[in-house]
Amino acid sequence: MKEKRSSATPQVRGWCPGAWRPMATGDGLLVRVRPPLGRLTRARMLSLCEAAETWGSGLIELTRRANLQLRGVNEAGWPELMAFLVEHGLAAPDAAAERRPALLLAPEWREGDATYEAARLLERRLADWPALPDKWGLALDAGPAPVLGDVPADLRLERSIEGGLVVRADGRDLATPVADVEAAVALMTRLAHWFVDSGGLAAGRMRRVTAPLPGWAAATAAWAESSDDTPGLTPGSHPAGRVVGLAFGRATAASLRAVLHDDITGVRVTPWRRLLLEGEHASTRDAAPDDGLIHDACDPRLAMDACPGAPFCAQASVATQGLAQALAERRSEGPGESAAGRLHISGCAKGCARSGPAEVCLTGRDGRYDLILGGRADDTPVATGLGESDAIEYLETRDALRL
Ligand code: SF4
Repeated sequence: MKEKRSSATPQVRGWCPGAWRPMATGDGLLVRVRPPLGRLTRARMLSLCEAAETWGSGLIELTRRANLQLRGVNEAGWPELMAFLVEHGLAAPDAAAERRPALLLAPEWREGDATYEAARLLERRLADWPALPDKWGLALDAGPAPVLGDVPADLRLERSIEGGLVVRADGRDLATPVADVEAAVALMTRLAHWFVDSGGLAAGRMRRVTAPLPGWAAATAAWAESSDDTPGLTPGSHPAGRVVGLAFGRATAASLRAVLHDDITGVRVTPWRRLLLEGEHASTRDAAPDDGLIHDACDPRLAMDACPGAPFCAQASVATQGLAQALAERRSEGPGESAAGRLHISGCAKGCARSGPAEVCLTGRDGRYDLILGGRADDTPVATGLGESDAIEYLETRDALRL
């Protein structure tokens, strides 16, 4: 019988952690690193691994906005960590520079293409933008079809259905055509000022500013739709190198270091919990060891989402990662991300690991799990108060693990 959720609600902070503004969590400070142009050289990635092991717990996470974060940093060690991150090009030199809007690039950009050129221009000009809300972000996604549609962004650079460049202000039905990348960046800059002048700081996000766009930004073009609803970059060989997945968005620094072979030139981050290792080809390597990374497109963990849970997050009352791994082992014959359905294990109703619905969602509450079918972490459950073994049994008896 369906039961209404508890009125207990997760804490919504309304701001994003960074390196200069770390967030206190259940396992210490969380320090977030934003790779410039969505890429770290191999040397910088190795430095990040060193930082994770020296000042953190050794875990590195890849977020849904393609940022990397260290966990378990203690307050006493944080100043030394920051000096290291700045010295190695992993953090902005000061807090003000870090607070500029995040740029998310479609990971398969090429040097000289519109995505890359727009990012380079914006990097130089964002210092002159007005102060914007913490969560503000730009998606630079100017390939033939967008790939970042599922990632929240206030402004997007994309293509129209005719193939021209367009700027999309979030929440609008049409996009504004622009002549070239220079014009796109100029328009984005002007729209950022317009957002602030239109009360955007109070509204928080572009989609919440309901005023019509000004005449100089008239939105008249339909944008190209994504041609594929499967998240991009399948683990395995890629024309630019090799893709590896991070199970539930995290890996140890030791695992990552082990795949950073000498022939890798850089590592691109993605919002899909996968890294593109530039320059390495799977065919040149032996079969990957069981290193905690995902190398196989059929890995059942690709069809699962799990947040850090307890003890990593202070809002969690359940250890999501252990249950996720136990369920993944029972889905070992599963068809990876080609599966018809997803399984979401959330430490609380906030649903950090997945904002959309999943075929099966287990949400922690007061040390037990609620079961939600076809919904989000905060939707009404069909069963409540399940322990881990209850949850596994419930799903096994209903064949729900063979999604
Ligand atoms: S969903 Fe998970 S990570 Fe997010 S606040 Fe809840 S317990 Fe923490």
